[in-house]
Amino acid sequence: VTGTADEPTRTTGPRRDKPPASSPTVSERMSRQAQKNTSVELEVRRRLHRCGLRYRLHVPVPGVPRRTIDIAFPAQHTAIFLDGCFWHGCPTHGQIPRSNSAWWGQKIQGNVDRDANTTAHLMSLGWHVLRFWEHEAPEAVVERIYPEIIARK
Ligand SMILES: [Zn+2]
Repeated sequence: VTGTADEPTRTTGPRRDKPPASSPTVSERMSRQAQKNTSVELEVRRRLHRCGLRYRLHVPVPGVPRRTIDIAFPAQHTAIFLDGCFWHGCPTHGQIPRSNSAWWGQKIQGNVDRDANTTAHLMSLGWHVLRFWEHEAPEAVVERIYPEIIARK
């Protein structure tokens, strides 16, 4: 079963890669994760804005234009990533689907490796990198971001 009304229609960036033909359970889970991720990111952005912080969205990683920073503070050289539990292999929620498990395992490990490379690359350029899971409470995420930005103003 594909093409249900619940499937995300936005296709922004590599983390929304299409899966292989998969069971309804898998597509349902992915759809839920994508929506959840979006709403968490929106909520974090809303709260940052309310705190008076100004940021830029989906800024290309310097030197790696195909990859983007979810929420960037260029003047403070600070990059925020809000990683989806499913796609980025959250230790708590990042379970590999049972069907096509080898494919999914490789796919998600590839994302985890890329995340680590992106973090290392940004740090080598003098950026400060903060990564969060989408399951973290938005207010807790903002509480950790805020002092980091203020300290670099
Ligand atoms: Zn999680």
